[in-house]
Amino acid sequence: MPAGPSDSARSTTEAWESGDHWNIGDRAVWVAQTGHRLIEFEVTIASPDNGTVLSGSLSGGNEREPFELPGRFGNVRHTGSEQRYCLPCARSLHELRTQTRRWTDLHWGGWSPRAHRKHALLQASIEWQRVIGGFRGTFTRAADVPDWLRQVTAGALIRSYSDSLRVARIEEPIDWPTMFTDHPGDLRIVVDKSLDTDGDLWSRITKAYNAIGDSGIAAHLTVDLEVTADGELVLNPYAVGSAELDTTTDDPEYYLQLDPRHAALIDHVTATLSTGPLQPAGFWPVTSQ
Ligand SMILES: [Zn+2]
Ligand SMILES: [Zn+2]
Repeated sequence: MPAGPSDSARSTTEAWESGDHWNIGDRAVWVAQTGHRLIEFEVTIASPDNGTVLSGSLSGGNEREPFELPGRFGNVRHTGSEQRYCLPCARSLHELRTQTRRWTDLHWGGWSPRAHRKHALLQASIEWQRVIGGFRGTFTRAADVPDWLRQVTAGALIRSYSDSLRVARIEEPIDWPTMFTDHPGDLRIVVDKSLDTDGDLWSRITKAYNAIGDSGIAAHLTVDLEVTADGELVLNPYAVGSAELDTTTDDPEYYLQLDPRHAALIDHVTATLSTGPLQPAGFWPVTSQ
């Protein structure tokens, strides 16, 4: 499980926790262990007394405002430089990086070499094109995927990083339930076990999806293409909903006042899914990630 870097040594005061450890202009990183990654965010110390930093290094321009980091300097470590090499910080940073590497190895070791190969091959078989706000991908002819999947996802693959062997996320309004009916056995649906309380989550997702479509608004099913531990490409539903339900508020009272037809639909879908509340964006998450 992820833990804060300061968890390991809470009893004693570490060097970096005291204000006099720092000088204005010191270069450092703010570190956070999240999932299986160590996030390192480059900062420059602005005021040791106020516990504030500037983002990035000093060379990065001067239009930045100093700000206080969560936990002040508790998660900040000096980075090595010729002028000022700080041993306690260097040791701690090395330890954190090593620890993260161990976790990472253990985590990714949960997928077979075959699964990692499959994932790498699929990733290499996606052609990315620049669009407004990012990239969208298409499986090439070389990709080991069913033809229909290549066709419906053309230009719709979204690069999406996760703690699993995710190939891509797809947010396009593709009619997945119909795809699966038309191509049985081609691609397995794997739902989040922790939310699949009755072993019937996919059928509830389909019902919710159809209910949204039947009410005359465009239903969306956001899905992730993932490789399982033993190397099978599967489809993992992420969220079901509609962009047309987006009212930029998460206040249920607001929905009720807004449109009684939508309110009834929201109640119905919420009861059908029973996996989580409607998000402000108009989507019900069907995965716990
Ligand atoms: Zn230091
Ligand atoms: Zn994990």
